[in-house]
Parts: sequence; C-alpha cells; structure tokens
Amino acid sequence: MMIHSIYSATEGEGIYIGTPQVFVRFRGCTLKCKNCDSIYTWGHGNENDRWSMESVLAEINEVSHNGKIQRVSITGGDPLDDNNIGDVLMLSGELKSKGYFVNVEASGNKIDHRVFDLVDFISIDFKTPSSGIETPLEILASMERQYHGKFQVKSVIQDERDFNIVYQAYYLLAGEMPDMNFSWCLTPAYNLEEKFPHERFQNVLKWNEKAGGYFRVIGQQHKWIFGPDKKDV
Ligand code: SF4
Repeated sequence: MMIHSIYSATEGEGIYIGTPQVFVRFRGCTLKCKNCDSIYTWGHGNENDRWSMESVLAEINEVSHNGKIQRVSITGGDPLDDNNIGDVLMLSGELKSKGYFVNVEASGNKIDHRVFDLVDFISIDFKTPSSGIETPLEILASMERQYHGKFQVKSVIQDERDFNIVYQAYYLLAGEMPDMNFSWCLTPAYNLEEKFPHERFQNVLKWNEKAGGYFRVIGQQHKWIFGPDKKDV
C-alpha cells in the first residue's frame, strides 16, 4: 500500500471533532485543489514507500495503544485514487474484521460503492470555487439516496463566493429532496502560513446565520492548537 503516514491524533474537523482516531494517510491525488493543505501527499511514491498489510496493521496497533483507539480514518491524498482503491478495500475489510470503526475521507469527485458499502462512515467534500474544483451536485443527491445517515459533507469556505455557491447547492438540492437531512459542515479556511483568520470565521458564522443556519460551522481545531503548518496532528 502506498501510505504516507500512520499516526494517532484527535479529529480536528467535521462532526467527529474531538474524537481520538488513527489516521492512515494514503499517497496520491490527481485533483490538485488550489487550497490543498497536504500537497506533500500528491505523489504516488515509489517502491520504497510501499507498506505490506502486516506492517500497516502492526503500526495501527502500535499507534492506537494496542488497539485501545478503535476508530480509523482512511485519508490522503485521495484514498479513492484508482491506484489506492484496491488497497483501501482490503485494509477496510481487515479493520472491520478486527472491530474497528472505519471512516473514509472522499474528495467528492466519485462514489465507489465497494468502499462506501463496506466502511462505517463517509466524509465527503463538496468543493468550493477557491479550490478550483467543482463537485457535481448529483454526487450529494446520490449520497443522500443511498447512504442516508452514514455520511457528512464538508466544504472549505475562503470567502463569500464560496459560501454563496454552497448555499445555492443546498437550495437546489433541498428543492429536489425536501426530506434531505445530513450534516453539511462549513470549514472556514485557515491557510498555510496564515495568522488565525478571525474575520473569516466571524463572516462564515454571520453568513450562515443570515441564510437560515442550515450548515454547521466547524473550524479545524488542530490548526488552532498546533498551527496551520504542522502535519500529522
Ligand atoms: S482532494 Fe484533498 S488531497 Fe487532493 S488536492 Fe484536494 S484537498 Fe488535496
């Protein structure tokens, strides 16, 4: 498996914020979002970066304090990159058989039923204009139809344009699916080498309140604690 790192940390974003987890960070991502804070994972690596299943499970056991932390988040890079999907499936199966709760982080450009059916939870991105990537609205509609109760959506908000696009997407989706009900988290951007962006956080709170408050505004706690440039925390 092409893995960048395996470490334990406290989830810093989304609806499981504050929950200790083991993170398995796969290498490889071809999306190249403009606001990516893990560019160091884009490359697919070389043979020296390949981990065996045995070594991955041993490392997870080690960093989880001999299996005391029973949650694993499979992230990246892009775990759903074509080069990773087979390995993510095998790893998820192994972890599930050992009783771990498995979350997968998905970039929002595709749905992979083999992975999504197998894992316990899916955190999927709805990309905003500041990323330079567009997430088809149909992806979210399909997630709600097929994985209701088993996923959250996360959107990074850099500015008002990002917020307006997300709000418009919500409005269109709610028109099609009046009963839709899932957590959609807005993450105010906290960019590399930036000082804490108080004004941006305050604006995102204000825009959300004014629009009716459908979204949950949840910042990236690990960046407040360790700074925006610290990796694997
Ligand atoms: S999908 Fe994730 S890892 Fe890939 S470029 Fe975008 S933010 Fe970075």
